This record gives sequence, C-alpha cells and structure tokens, in this order.
Amino acid sequence: MAQRNERYRGLFLHTKDTARGDRILTFLCNEGLLSLFMFGGPKNSLRSAALPFVLADIEVYRDSRRDFIKLTGANVLEVFDGIRKSFFHMQSASAASEFLIRTSAFGGEYQQALLMITLLLRELAGLDESETRLVLSAFFWDALYPLGLIPDLLRCERCGRLFSEKNSLPGGLLVGESSFLCRSCAEEYGQIRFSTSVMLPFDDKILTCLHSIPRQSYGQAVLLLKSIPSSPDIIKIIESLAEAAAEGPLQSLRILDQTFYRTQI
Ligand SMILES: [Zn+2]
Repeated sequence: MAQRNERYRGLFLHTKDTARGDRILTFLCNEGLLSLFMFGGPKNSLRSAALPFVLADIEVYRDSRRDFIKLTGANVLEVFDGIRKSFFHMQSASAASEFLIRTSAFGGEYQQALLMITLLLRELAGLDESETRLVLSAFFWDALYPLGLIPDLLRCERCGRLFSEKNSLPGGLLVGESSFLCRSCAEEYGQIRFSTSVMLPFDDKILTCLHSIPRQSYGQAVLLLKSIPSSPDIIKIIESLAEAAAEGPLQSLRILDQTFYRTQI
C-alpha cells in the first residue's frame, strides 16, 4: 500500500515557512529524523503546536510513492516554557537542534538524541541566562561520545605522550581538528604547519573537568563548570569540537557570539 497513517512521539526541532504559508518541519523521534509538510493557512489548528521545541504525539500521512509525509495531527505533551523567556535560551536550544540536524542525530542514534535534547531543554528552562552556554557545552560534550569524536584525554594523539608526564602540558587543540596535542606537538604545529590557525590551550584542570562531565546530570555539569575559573576556555574547546563534528560553523553559536560582543561594548 502506497499511502498510510502513522503515529510518532517526538520533538519538533526546526520549522521553516514557505512563501505560500506552508510549513516544513524537522521532527526527531525514536524512529528517525523526519521531514514533515504542513499545509498553510492561518486556520490550520496545527500551527500553534507545530513549533520548535514542542514535544508531541503526532499523526502523519505518508505517501511513500511520492516520498512525502504530511502532518495531520498533533497532541502537545511539553512546551518547555522556560526556554522562551530569553533570546539566549532560545538560541542555545537552536544550537543544540542545529547540531542534531547537522550530525543526523549523532549518526542515527535517534533514541539517545531525543532523550538528550529533552533533558537539555528541561534543564535550560530552569537556568539563568548566564548559564545557558554552560549547559549547552555539557550537551555537546556528551554528544561527541555516540559520534565517536571524543578526543583522547590521556595522551597526545600525535606522539602518544601521556598528559600526566612532566612538561607535557599545557597542550593544545587546533580549531577545526579533534585531536588533543601535547605541549611540544602543539608548539610545533602552531609554529610550522598551521601558523595561521588558532590553537586552544588546555591544562590538567581542564582535562579533569572534561573527564567528569559525562558522569553528571546537566544540572551538576553546570555547577562544575561554574566553579572552574577556566570555564570560558573549556567552552571554547567543546564548541570547537562540536563544530568539527558538525563539519562547519554552527550558525546559532555565531549569532550568540555576535550578540555577546555587542552587549559588551
Ligand atoms: Zn605530542
């Protein structure tokens, strides 16, 4: 049969309205990352439910012959009200959803991706504006595991030297790469091969912090990051790794950076 109705439980990650007023939606559920179509018109009662960061049970109509899925019903389960209170909250949630879409939900780990972003949105909703980027970093770091892109935290990926050895730190992460280098490799790379690239430094405190983030809830990870003076460096490292995993800049992070910059001057 070419046409059928299906039901899914999941989260709207992204919506885009067409010039005609129709809406194209990206929906994450345990079964996959679905691209849905919703016909326009202000009278469509689904419009208020089919928005980013709404968790819902949905009904769709699938026309497999034309490879087309239409949204036909939505029962809202959770709206994460607290994330709609500020630009920083919404932009941090957008950065997480952008990352999910770009990595195809951690390379097809749909169930884990849905669980992680649901927990992130709940945590974000209760946080202060200044803490949004911390919890986003904890999310990115956890997301690097299913992608297999967590750097080796024990030894230099180039020469194999242990970071616990004397004088092996501070090491460096080259922006755009996903390997942690020891001090001498970082110096060599920085000076000779990639002199125009930015090298992000890390020390043993940063390594210890990175090592313990995945064993904690997002709330605990925020407290941990807040307690460490070098947390801005940790955030830079994690966001750089996240953008390397996403194979390019995350637009939502760039917008956050610009906003931060403008409010500082
Ligand atoms: Zn090395």
